[in-house]
Order: sequence, then structure tokens, then C-alpha cells
Amino acid sequence: MNTSNRPKILVTNDDGIFAPGIFALSQAMEAVGEVYVVAPDAERSAVGHAITLSDPLRVWEFEKNGSFFGWAVNGTPADCVKLAVKALLDFKPDLVVSGINLGPNTAMNVIYSGTVSAATEGTILGIPSIAFSLSTFRKTDFSFAQKVARQVARQVLQNGLPEDTLLNVNIPALPESEIKGIKITRQGKGRYEEILEKRVDPMKRTYYWLGGKKLILDTDEDVDEVAVMNGYVSITPLHYDLTDYRFLKQLKTWDLE
Ligand code: MN
Repeated sequence: MNTSNRPKILVTNDDGIFAPGIFALSQAMEAVGEVYVVAPDAERSAVGHAITLSDPLRVWEFEKNGSFFGWAVNGTPADCVKLAVKALLDFKPDLVVSGINLGPNTAMNVIYSGTVSAATEGTILGIPSIAFSLSTFRKTDFSFAQKVARQVARQVLQNGLPEDTLLNVNIPALPESEIKGIKITRQGKGRYEEILEKRVDPMKRTYYWLGGKKLILDTDEDVDEVAVMNGYVSITPLHYDLTDYRFLKQLKTWDLE
């Protein structure tokens, strides 16, 4: 391993080590520091912050274009970050980046997102961390997203982040000439109106397939999903303390004893 003074960057994702987005992100990070890739061996989107406790975690070296690219793990995004930091790397990375996810991680999607959870795990381990998502589900051109990733990564390395705080970056899938700028945003309230499609399999058994229609419930322009819709790169600071401080005081007044 290279032991230069360049920052050491752990790259992971939830779309799996085969995904074009993690290749794009690792390439972008080469310009910023030493890159180490540890990622799931298959797609693990929407697994949230799940970790694997009942099965062993196995790791193997994954090659791309004939040379070593990174370590593939039969686990979740959070597993990958834990394993990288606690077992595979013999140093603590200076930065954890996750992505570039295909599909936005805005509003309520953040709760389900494996991309964001990988970054959250980095934060829990005391490492500044960033999640990157591109607002399209189709294979696409990552060049503008790569540029954003380099800029944000450099700024995080330079300025650091508060303890317990990560950055959630969402990039519109537009040509650079159509991007309006960067907006610092808050998490929206949009969610999916669930549709559980009822189907019948070839054995005549009923099964269900979860889908949904997106509902945007907060249309302020400083909301993550609205900013992306309007053509801005959205950057939201997130933290994982889920306490509702507004209600905490009132809850103390309840007659519970
Ligand atoms: Mn994903």
C-alpha cells in the first residue's frame, strides 16, 4: 500500500462493487487522495443501516480492467464500513465517501438509504463522511457528479465536519450547463404513496411487489428534493441523533408513574 501524505479515502456504496457509480466515485477521489474501495458484492439498496450478525462476513479481492479495484463483501453498506475500518485497513481513513448512487436520496428516502447509512457508519466511527446520489435510475454520465464529489470532498477534508454530522449530497441528472448552482438544504418530508401490487406466480401463489408514487409534501425551495427538482445540487447536513427535542420537554410532563 502507498504510504504517502495524501488523505486516505474509503469509498463504498449500496449499489454494489459492480456498479458504475462506485467506479466513477473512486476515479474522482483519485485526484483527492489515496483510494480504498470496500463495497457489497451485490446490490444492497434500501437496506438502511442494517448490519449482519447471524452470518459470517466474507471478503474477496475484486478486479476491474485486470487490476485490483477493491474488496467485495457479502454484507450491507454499514458492514462494509465497519469491516474496512476495523479489519481490512491498517489505518483510520481521513474520509468516507458513499455512492455515487443511482437514484436520489432525499426526503424520506434518507431513512431507507444504504448509501446514506454507509456515510452514517463512517460518522459513528469518527470519520468525516459524505453520501453522493444522482437523480436518475438509468446508467448515465457521471462527469458532473464526479466534479461535485471532488469539490465537496476537498472542502470536508479542509474544514472538517462537526461530530455526529455527515453530508448528504444529491445531484440533478442534468448536463453541467443546465445546473443552477449549489443549495444548502434541509431534509424534505416527501415520501411514497405505497402501492402493493398483487400478482400471481406460475405456481398460482399470490405475491406482492412494493412500489409507489412519489409525494412531495413540503415545497419550500430550501428542501432537498425541491432544490434537485429545480436544478440545484443539494447538500444537507444530517445527524443521527433521532431524539425529538421539541417533544421531550412536554413528554416529561405526562403522568407516567
Ligand atoms: Mn442504491
